[in-house]
Amino acid sequence: MEKNVCSSCKKRITNIEGSVQFQCPKCGKSTITRCKNCREIAAKYKCHDCGFIGPN
Ligand SMILES: [Zn+2]
Ligand SMILES: [Zn+2]
Repeated sequence: MEKNVCSSCKKRITNIEGSVQFQCPKCGKSTITRCKNCREIAAKYKCHDCGFIGPN
């Protein structure tokens, strides 16, 4: 799977400032990537390993 795409909108985040990558808060196996825009609008993301849906 492409690592540098936003988990919510699938945009490439390679050169976008303010994007973040972190491990899934539930299972810690999968890397979640979020672009600045999706952080600002609090867009949902889903872990592919455990199905956790955040940020809520
Ligand atoms: Zn995004
Ligand atoms: Zn997970």
